[in-house]
Amino acid sequence: MANKIRVTVWNEYRHEKSEESIRAIYPKGIHGCIKDFLDPHDDLEVRIVSLDDPEQGLPDEVLNNTDVLMWWGHMAHGDVDDALVQRIKKRVYDDGMGFVAMHSAHMSKPFREIVGTSGKLLWSDDQHEIMWNVLPSHPITAGIPEHVDLGIEEMYGEPFMIPQPDELLFISWFEHGYVFRSGCTYYRGRGKVFYFQPGHETNPTYRDKNVQTVIRNAVYWAAPNKD
Ligand code: ZN
Repeated sequence: MANKIRVTVWNEYRHEKSEESIRAIYPKGIHGCIKDFLDPHDDLEVRIVSLDDPEQGLPDEVLNNTDVLMWWGHMAHGDVDDALVQRIKKRVYDDGMGFVAMHSAHMSKPFREIVGTSGKLLWSDDQHEIMWNVLPSHPITAGIPEHVDLGIEEMYGEPFMIPQPDELLFISWFEHGYVFRSGCTYYRGRGKVFYFQPGHETNPTYRDKNVQTVIRNAVYWAAPNKD
């Protein structure tokens, strides 16, 4: 089926292997959880890969056959090969591959390189988060209510040292008064990029129906335009 959207979910996949409490939340890994909720969509072809796979999960035959690359990394950003980062950037800029950076991927090499940012932000402990939908006309926010109560999440706060987003879709409130631009898009070269903050590994965030809707919408949005 040549016209399926080919999605590759890349996960560092270290926390789930080394920490029992996280494995209990995501027995198949975060990437496995994401694949499970995307798989029912017949027009998506979802593949999962991880850092410890051969060629860090992204040999040419995988990367060059990916329409949308999703990225979750945290403790091993530095292990990602610089040459791979450049190959990913080229796929986005020259070929229009979509890139969806999830949660702590704000500090990942590919996100920083593609968007042009240090990725730094203000960080604190876990707090109650309410995510506000500030661009309800956007395809990624379709079906998302005015606000989503995410319960306890890891606090990411402003200032977030990103370039001004091309589109700002979500702003989050945290209970100790912090705010954060939790959903941002960028257009880079031929490609589309989405950053989405919820998804700390110790919270079952990727099982939240609204979070799943945002991610699914983002995959369709980020897919390259047809020739
Ligand atoms: Zn986290």
